[in-house]
Amino acid sequence: MESYNSFQVAQHQVREAARLLHLDQATIELLSWPQREFRCTLQVRMDDGRIDNYHAYRIQYNYARGPAKGGIRFHPDETVDTIRALASWMTWKTAVLDLPLGGAKGGVCCDPKSMSLRELENLSRAYIRAIAPMIGVDRDVPAPDVYTNPQTMAWMMDEYETIVQRHHPGVLTDKPQQIGGTEGRRDATARGGVITVREACMLLGADPTKGFAIQGFGNAGQRAALLHREMLGGGKLVAVSDSRGAIFRAEGMDPEELVMHKLKTGSVLGFPGVKVIPHEALLELDVEVLYPAALENAITADNAPNIKARIICELANGPTTPEADIILNRKGIHVIPDILASAGGVTVSYFEMVQDNYSWFWEEELVHARLDSKLTRAYRAVQEAVREKKVHPRLGAMVVGVARVAEAAKLRGWV
Ligand code: GLU
Repeated sequence: MESYNSFQVAQHQVREAARLLHLDQATIELLSWPQREFRCTLQVRMDDGRIDNYHAYRIQYNYARGPAKGGIRFHPDETVDTIRALASWMTWKTAVLDLPLGGAKGGVCCDPKSMSLRELENLSRAYIRAIAPMIGVDRDVPAPDVYTNPQTMAWMMDEYETIVQRHHPGVLTDKPQQIGGTEGRRDATARGGVITVREACMLLGADPTKGFAIQGFGNAGQRAALLHREMLGGGKLVAVSDSRGAIFRAEGMDPEELVMHKLKTGSVLGFPGVKVIPHEALLELDVEVLYPAALENAITADNAPNIKARIICELANGPTTPEADIILNRKGIHVIPDILASAGGVTVSYFEMVQDNYSWFWEEELVHARLDSKLTRAYRAVQEAVREKKVHPRLGAMVVGVARVAEAAKLRGWV
């Protein structure tokens, strides 16, 4: 299999959009690179008393439209280039949703599954001490991502408030509700994705009550399993995978039981009454909707020719390589690209920032209604670009996002 440098993929996507928009060379250069990068090593005290070193990053890709925004990932495979790519995608994501924010991402190379809670707390606090000077409501606002969660945010917010010696809940988002979090953030990424699937089904005349499959069963994947049926009036969850394996059941599985099983055992494997299938086979099932909800580069030129889903809703960041995009488009598969499909999380993060800044919190229904209107509007803006420029949906979304960031940079006199 080919190996992909995600940042090269991201740069390629920017340049393609820039070409369609006839942007000048200075703007292309500005948008092809992060504006600010920070790298450090963190010293963390482990439970047995020794100190371990961890490589860590925070990258603010672009802040022309507002404070940089994006998650923090704890994962063994992070490199400066994966974080650059993810920070780039956050920039276009916030722009496609028309949020007054830029894009950023952070990461620590570590294996959180082998660390105790106390070690993770020490690591989270060390990370925030390192990046404290560069974050804040008007600079850069982190959030969770892969293998980080509201508890991680609670430790990080507490460490930040200790440093600045005042309350500052808006410094990061997706906190527990008791300490400044919002209603509706936990399922926001999945809810946003399902809203875009609803729009796609209306556009294509597709039937969401048929079979669907989910690759990756973390927060976004689990919530999508529950919400797909709730919001679209049915649907059979025929296959699910996580990092340990994939399972299949033609008659469908009960998403609630499956989520409970994953919580209890740490994996989808061992769920009763299912067949274990290879990872690749899940992607190639004949389903109405496929949700890639794991990591980058899952759909490649190798497996794209065998994909049969009618709609692909990218809840993960960067799950499809550029070659695969071309193949999927040629096959007539409707791809709802990551920077649109997975934007529900950062949209509700933005709502959380607003509520923290006013210290006045919204009802859950209001969060849901505002999320729906933002996502629906963004979906339609992307479809309009697809029609106007005659391009595939990812390029359509990139055109919308890149145009908005380029405009802001120009107004500021940066280019
Ligand atoms: N990590 C999420 C994403 O990739 C959310 C980021 C945020 O809320 O800032 O979109």
